[in-house]
Amino acid sequence: MQKGKIKVQTENIFPIIKKFLYSDSEIFLRELVSNAVDATQKLKTLASVGNIKGDIGDTSIEIIMDEKAKTITVRDKGIGMTADEIKKYINQIAFSSAEEWIEKFQKYDDRNAIIGHFGLGFYSAFMVSKKVEIITKSYKENEEPVKWECSGDPEFKITTAKKEARGTDIVLHIADDSDEFLNENRILELLKKYCKFLPVEIIFGKEKETKKEKDKDGKEKDVTVEKPRIINNTKPAWTLKPAELKEEDYKSFYRELYPFTFEEPLFNIHLNVDYPFNLTGILYFPKIKEQIEVQKNKIQLYCNQVFVTDSVEGIVPDFLTLLHGVLDSPDIPLNVSRSFLQSDSNVKKISSHITKKVADKLEDIFKNNREEFEKKWDDIKVFIQYGMISEEKFKERAKKFCLLKNVDNKFFTFDEYKNHIKTNQTNKDKKIVHIYANNAVEQHSMIDAAKEKGYDVLLFDTPIDSHFINLLESDLENVSFVRVDADVVDKLISKDEELPSKLSNKEKESLKTDIEKQIDKTQFNVVFENMSESDQPMVITQPEYMRRMKDMSALGGAGMFGQMPDNYVLSVNTNHPAIYKITQEKNDKSKESLISQLVDLAMLSKNLLKGEKLTEFVKRSIDLI
Ligand code: ADP
Repeated sequence: MQKGKIKVQTENIFPIIKKFLYSDSEIFLRELVSNAVDATQKLKTLASVGNIKGDIGDTSIEIIMDEKAKTITVRDKGIGMTADEIKKYINQIAFSSAEEWIEKFQKYDDRNAIIGHFGLGFYSAFMVSKKVEIITKSYKENEEPVKWECSGDPEFKITTAKKEARGTDIVLHIADDSDEFLNENRILELLKKYCKFLPVEIIFGKEKETKKEKDKDGKEKDVTVEKPRIINNTKPAWTLKPAELKEEDYKSFYRELYPFTFEEPLFNIHLNVDYPFNLTGILYFPKIKEQIEVQKNKIQLYCNQVFVTDSVEGIVPDFLTLLHGVLDSPDIPLNVSRSFLQSDSNVKKISSHITKKVADKLEDIFKNNREEFEKKWDDIKVFIQYGMISEEKFKERAKKFCLLKNVDNKFFTFDEYKNHIKTNQTNKDKKIVHIYANNAVEQHSMIDAAKEKGYDVLLFDTPIDSHFINLLESDLENVSFVRVDADVVDKLISKDEELPSKLSNKEKESLKTDIEKQIDKTQFNVVFENMSESDQPMVITQPEYMRRMKDMSALGGAGMFGQMPDNYVLSVNTNHPAIYKITQEKNDKSKESLISQLVDLAMLSKNLLKGEKLTEFVKRSIDLI
């Protein structure tokens, strides 16, 4: 037997390690199983280069819980350790790195500072144990099995042990305040979380399986058998070559990742880089629903198939957090804070690589299968717009494949659309005016009037669209946007030609006074427009700039306009026969009722006529008949 003192300055390591890691103590299992996987992989490598003679046999790792003895054992059949190796790797290296770690983090009282700290390794066993034993037998011939034990004070003990099989048992004597881990479901949950895709088979307990078997009379019977419960899929799709995978394999892997999501992904991107950084993974485009926030942050981050976190904020650009899937990279530093992550050069490279790949994929589908791209457009549109708004580089790429959809469900790229409308929709300042609707039903009469004039009307009907329009206006040259109800149709695109007015200025003035008696002057501003005879007699519009301010204040963008009431313009068509008739009407009562009728009709087509006003309108209409 040999006794010694671990080189740790701190007299008792438990209080410190617990204080700083308490909230994250569950990672002990990830760390110990990762070590077991490493030891197994090393053995496989040695065998593959011929350094180990004979068959290495079964290499599965077992997690064994003994509720009575209050122990959890992690057992591998890997390379094991000799007494000298224990002294070197456990006493010197493991503990000195632990000590370094404590020194580094003792000054932080903030648990968030130590998210995803890898490298704590074996030492993390002490977060949940009052005593830890290592019983190990090296793969090397003629080496005695060894037992190491330590109760958390700097004393440790090494003795010879009895162990037939090659490999290592790490036995944790669970501390009283950590007995939550002596629960089968809790351990199962942790294994499913961290070890689901480890490359070596992980076994925990047993599970029942029902099989069909024939009895001696040849009759089929259900037989229940117990078999070792395997926790993981050792060859998850992202570790395979794209050529080995079919569309269905990607879909079934998606279901494996998100067993509670029923929607199928739209398409996927298989990432595989080994220079200048290591990155593999599969990203999926989900159908993006109304509640964007719920769908964010579903990407799982792995480090050599060990689960690290499902929050990739700071690692990928914000718009990419809308994607689902897996990223696996040993090159993402995990023992640092999020703000540090963003400035890390590897993380930056990874992030721009992913952005590029996503753009490549979208461009590829657009070029080679435009029909499919258009079909999926409504589901990926928010993603692309969000990306263009938030990432300069992505915007430059996406300009080629971002689509505009018109009210007739036709799709155009920016360039195509410019060419499509340029002749008809260029205004007197040489700007190409893009007309859009945000509600094809409510704005039906306006859309109709615009089409009648040979204009094309786009559909922009999602909340992000108003930001997107701002982006396009500042980005595309000589382009402006106007909502179809922003002005009377003749004024949507200001051209030089103007019709004469059939009303004199005097007639206009007196008509204006008469109209203002019938309306709420704080809500409506009466103007005269020289439209054509066939246009409506009165039209209600909301100027583009006013509406945008209101939209912005609704989104919280422009605080000072928070309480803005709705303001409209009531345009009176100076050339309409009905308007002329009103000016000629001698009877005050009849005049009043004609004006009200026209105002109400204008309001009705804007969906503004409600309640008492609507009732009055119906009554008046019947009286008129
Ligand atoms: P790390 O895994 O980051 O090197 P650890 O503190 O987890 O640090 O482990 C220290 C060393 O102990 C490992 O590098 C390895 O050599 C050895 N070791 C730990 N667990 C095992 C194991 N199950 N089998 C063989 N060697 C192990």
